[in-house]
Amino acid sequence: MYAGHFAAGLAIKARVPKAPTLWLLIGTGLLDILFGPFVLMGIERVTMTPGRPPGFSLDFIDWSHSLLMALVWSALYGLAFLKRGREMAFVLGFAVFSHFLLDLPMHPHDMALWPFSHTHLGFALWHTPYWWWAELAFIVAGCGYYWMRARQIGTFGGRAGWACLVVVVLHVLNAPWLSGNA
Ligand SMILES: [Zn+2]
Repeated sequence: MYAGHFAAGLAIKARVPKAPTLWLLIGTGLLDILFGPFVLMGIERVTMTPGRPPGFSLDFIDWSHSLLMALVWSALYGLAFLKRGREMAFVLGFAVFSHFLLDLPMHPHDMALWPFSHTHLGFALWHTPYWWWAELAFIVAGCGYYWMRARQIGTFGGRAGWACLVVVVLHVLNAPWLSGNA
């Protein structure tokens, strides 16, 4: 999942309004944020496959995206917020783990249980024409919930409409018929 991770961050914000929005959004994207430097360091591998959806093959992403490491990163991230209380630590840790949960339906069997495990998870929606619409549905639900709660509660989301629009635009820019990977 791509822009959907931001929709998840907004939805968590809507559920727990006192959670810090920026750290929620960084948290929901953290596994991909780690993936970039891990590839540069050579401990994770990706191959570009232009024209074949999703346009790349994630050959080894066990340090950022395995189940065990997702739990480790979630725990570490949550612990960093422990001084704000246990609930906040849990919420921010969950934001990180939500990335794993949302990648699970999309990734084609490349998410290991733990580093170098031979068992891989992922339901491969990325290999079907439906992934973009499935992610759009999630974005509409997550952003819709954020927008609705922002209007009800009024203590956050003064620009909820714009925030939702940015997420939808990011998703539209990522459409397979634009990238040539349809
Ligand atoms: Zn990811």
